[in-house]
Amino acid sequence: MNGGIQVDTGENRFVLDPKGAVRSNYTFVSHAHIDHMHNPARSEKVIASKETADLAKARGYDLGQTTEEVEGVELLDSGHILGSRAIRIADEVFYTGDASGRERAFLGKCRTRRARILIMETTYGSPEYVFPQTAKLVRDVNGLIGSAFDHGRPVILMGYPLGKAQLLAYYFSTWEPLFFHASVAAMNKIHLDYGIPLKTGRRFDPSSDLDSLPGGPWVMVAPMSSSRNRLMSHLRKKHDAILVAFSGWAIGGGYGRSLGADYSFPLSDHCDYPELVKLVEAVSPETVFTTHGFAAEFASDLRRIGFSARALSAYQSSLSDYVKSG
Ligand SMILES: [Zn+2]
Repeated sequence: MNGGIQVDTGENRFVLDPKGAVRSNYTFVSHAHIDHMHNPARSEKVIASKETADLAKARGYDLGQTTEEVEGVELLDSGHILGSRAIRIADEVFYTGDASGRERAFLGKCRTRRARILIMETTYGSPEYVFPQTAKLVRDVNGLIGSAFDHGRPVILMGYPLGKAQLLAYYFSTWEPLFFHASVAAMNKIHLDYGIPLKTGRRFDPSSDLDSLPGGPWVMVAPMSSSRNRLMSHLRKKHDAILVAFSGWAIGGGYGRSLGADYSFPLSDHCDYPELVKLVEAVSPETVFTTHGFAAEFASDLRRIGFSARALSAYQSSLSDYVKSG
C-alpha cells in the first residue's frame, strides 16, 4: 500500500501525504519530514509549498513540478516546520497535516478555516500533553547551559534535524562556540536561503571532525540520538558532554530516561491537547477524522463534547465513502 488519505470531490481525486507513488488527480505533500515524503509518479500533480519541494530535494526526494495554485484549493500555514501547509479542498474538507498551535521563533501557528469535514493529526491527543510556555522553557535551558559553561562542560542539544534543530539554533544562538552537526547544517542552509536569520556557526562532521573538537565549553545542535549511540557516548566520555533532548514526548520524563539523556524538555512542533481542542472548535466541523498518535482516544474525547468523530483506522484509509462533493 502506498498510503495517504484519499479524498474524492466528484471532479477530482486528492491523495494526502502518501508514502509512495499513487494514482491521483492531485497529490498533496504537507511538509518535508521523511514520514511524509515520497518520489511521486510522473503522472502525479503535486501540491506542495516551494519550501517543501526544496527541503525534499535536499533530503533526496524529487517532488517534480509542484504547485500551490489549484482551483478550489486553499493552502494555509500549519506552523509545524518551514513550508508546512494545511489544505482546504472544495470548501468542504480541511486537512491539517502536522500542525502546531503556537508561534515559535520564525514559525507562525496553524491557520484554520471553517469546513464540514476536518481531518487532523492527533499526535499528542491525550490530556496529559500540555506543553509549557516556550519562553519559560528557553529560560530554563539557558540556565542549564550557563551552569554547564561555568563548569567548562559542553552541551549537546538534540532534536529532529529538520524543524526542531532550527528552533534550537534560533533560541540558543547566543552561546559560543556553536557547532551544528552536518545533518542539521544541511537543513539550516535552506532556512538561510529563505531568509531565516540563523547563525552560521561551525559545521561538525562526525566522520572527519571528531578529533579536532576543542575542549568545552561549547554548544552543539545535533540529531536526536540515544546516549548509547557511538558519537554521543564518545562525546560524553571524552568531553564530559551533557545531553539534552527536545521533544513533546518529554512530558512525563520517561522519554529522556529511555534515551539516556541527562535532561529532556517538551519543545514540540505539534499541537498539545488544549490546542487540538481549540483547532477543532475553530474549524467547527460536522465530522472529524483523527490520525496519528492518540487518534482513537482523541476521537472519543471529541464525541463526549458533542462532535461526530472517529479515528482513521489506518493511515491509508480512504474517505471516499464519507466525502461527497457538495
Ligand atoms: Zn512532521
